[in-house]
Amino acid sequence: MKKNYFCDEGQQMLIKNNLKMSTLRFRAVEKATSRQPMEVKSPSVKTSEYFGINVFTKKKMQEYLSQEAYNSVMEAIRKGEKVDRKVSNQIASGMKAWAIDRGATHYTHWFHPLTGATAEKHDAFFEPASDSSVIENFDGGKLVQQEPDASSLPSGGMRNTFEARGYTAWDPSSPAFIMGNTLSIPSVYISFKGDSLDYKTPLLRSLEAVNKAAVGLCNYFDKNVSKVTVGLGCEQEYFLVDDALFNARPDLKLTDRTLMGHSSAKDQQLSDHYFGYIPMRVTAFMHEFEIEAYKLGIPVKTRHNEVAPNQYECAPVFEEANLATDHNQLLMTIMKKVAKKHNFKVLFHEKPYKDVNGSGKHCNWSLITNTGINLFAPGKTPKTNMLFLSFFVAVIKGVYEYQDLLRSSIVSLGNEHRLGASEAPPAIMSVFLGEEMNKILEEIVTRVSGRKMSPDEKTELKLDVGNIPEIMPDNTDRNRTSPFAFTGNRFEFRAVGSSINVASPLLVLNTIVASQLIEFKREVDKLIESGVKKDEAIFQVIKKFTLAAKNVRFDGNNYSEEWAKEAEKLGLTNVNDVLEALTAIVSPESRKLFTEMKVLNEHELEARLEIEMEKYTKKIQIESRVLGDLAINHVLPTVYRYQNVLIENVKGLKEVFSDGDYEKLSVTQLESIREISSRAAMVNIKVNNMIDARRKANVIEEVDKKAKEYSNEVKPYLDEIRYQIDHLEMIVDDEMWPLPKYRELLFIR
Ligand code: ADP
Ligand code: MG
Repeated sequence: MKKNYFCDEGQQMLIKNNLKMSTLRFRAVEKATSRQPMEVKSPSVKTSEYFGINVFTKKKMQEYLSQEAYNSVMEAIRKGEKVDRKVSNQIASGMKAWAIDRGATHYTHWFHPLTGATAEKHDAFFEPASDSSVIENFDGGKLVQQEPDASSLPSGGMRNTFEARGYTAWDPSSPAFIMGNTLSIPSVYISFKGDSLDYKTPLLRSLEAVNKAAVGLCNYFDKNVSKVTVGLGCEQEYFLVDDALFNARPDLKLTDRTLMGHSSAKDQQLSDHYFGYIPMRVTAFMHEFEIEAYKLGIPVKTRHNEVAPNQYECAPVFEEANLATDHNQLLMTIMKKVAKKHNFKVLFHEKPYKDVNGSGKHCNWSLITNTGINLFAPGKTPKTNMLFLSFFVAVIKGVYEYQDLLRSSIVSLGNEHRLGASEAPPAIMSVFLGEEMNKILEEIVTRVSGRKMSPDEKTELKLDVGNIPEIMPDNTDRNRTSPFAFTGNRFEFRAVGSSINVASPLLVLNTIVASQLIEFKREVDKLIESGVKKDEAIFQVIKKFTLAAKNVRFDGNNYSEEWAKEAEKLGLTNVNDVLEALTAIVSPESRKLFTEMKVLNEHELEARLEIEMEKYTKKIQIESRVLGDLAINHVLPTVYRYQNVLIENVKGLKEVFSDGDYEKLSVTQLESIREISSRAAMVNIKVNNMIDARRKANVIEEVDKKAKEYSNEVKPYLDEIRYQIDHLEMIVDDEMWPLPKYRELLFIR
């Protein structure tokens, strides 16, 4: 007996009321079309007056903490270290007082396990006292460290093999906040052996690696630089769908994407949605989630319609990367919560609908010194521009040398549908620089020679370097097809999918760049030791790096077929297969890089690969189960019912007309009956074959082999079954079709 993997409330209602499935669809459509915008209660004060009201900011720390406790937190943030245990009780007590003043009753460590979502386990502040009353209690121990019994979170086998449990530990560099009535304490999640079980731990390590390496290089130019932080601004794309329609689509509910659905006659062809008028229901939703974001100190700034119908984007002002990462995760949570109130569902999936654009999350990335210099902003003088160029070429060479690793940080089952589909960059990693920057690099390559430069040559070169236009106004929008673009004062990693935790690509990028900066400095030092003057040595290394990474630079159309061919000639890799792309995580280069930079050890890398492969397998498994059930329980019964209507019709024709007329008049119906029969049979056969394929794959023990089996033997059925169903959708009477159609999902507000 085949298992049925879902039982909708919808289906139950139908059974109870003896209704047809299609009735549910029409009820949902009716509900969705008749909704009015929700009223949003705006705070009566200016945004600046309530911004960050639910965050334990420095200002609030000063108010609630002793000077000693405050200094200790600041010191921990500055050095990236743990707080002094001696004062942790004082800090906890101040934090508790603030949280209770703001109405909090619970606290939790809030962390980023490798599921990609965030995790929390709330505990109440109150504790029974000895005289049978209760008191509010929260001490330093609870603030600094917790041991959630989180044994069901993914660990890639690490905790089983090495330690039974993991613990969470406070990350003082991201401020505590109140969500609902819970004090949430941003934390790392580590095994007792010290291996990371989350995204935040290696992210913090990578930020420290890039800080150290960047300060080293900056000090050639400016001794006052003692800290370099990473700036990150995430442009979050998403789809909205009415929740009544969402609930009538088990595939959306269980897999975040539609597994079937014929494309709508009109979708994004006219580009009339992009940057268009934002529907009122949507504006109300945006307005409300922005208010909630402001209370949590998330500086959401930009909102607009995206290319596909019902697709939108929001972007905050960039912030320090660890905070920006926490904020992106929080923002996604807030959006989901607020959407409920507005009868929407937010879809963060990279490709919820076939044939319209999917969603990404562009990561705008830069390095900023404690002296206020953005290292990717061309400066006014030759000196600042040499600094700029040094960092600039280091990033380009990093992308070139670690293209496979960079790709491994953004691939997933969801992103697979999007990458290379002429809506997002292909799986080839290249860097867009823009005309001006390409010209300058070419100049350097031709002018700098291995021999000692004459004073005139040096002056000339310096003049050129000093002439980099300070602002490159149209650089930001010039090439939207590039996976990694220089946009005037930052790099923009555009291949990142909309649903993922940005810590994943970020920690890879940081680590790569850190290693390049170290190499850059090592090369310069070597030249200086051999008697070359500092400026000239720097120029020579800039030239060397530029030449070494020449092939990764590409300003043309990344979506074109010619580029794929050209890239191959240039020796750039193009890996479309997710599982193959993921293996770069444990390549010898990756192991060397991450261990040398002390960001991830070999166990952690292996565990990460295993977790990603498992995620991939399980998601295909779920999609395949859902599609199988939909096909058998929703689609085929409907199709047979319609087929019966046609058969009855043909029988009637035979009764009414003479043989000659009957033969002429029944042609179309008979064709339809035949087509329905053959397509329905195909669906049936393929679903059964898919179930067999799953059965075979399920007994495989090895994670990698199982994932491959799922990818090669199960996944193809998803498209094949869908193909037949989408054709059937076009034949069957619209009134009978059980699931909301694309034109309903995509256009109803
Ligand atoms: P676009 O769609 O043109 O790329 P958006 O305004 O949607 O631009 O988003 C740009 C993002 O880049 C914002 O989050 C912005 O704060 C961020 N950003 C701007 N300058 C920097 C910088 N120097 N470092 C990192 N992010 C930056
Ligand atoms: Mg944008």
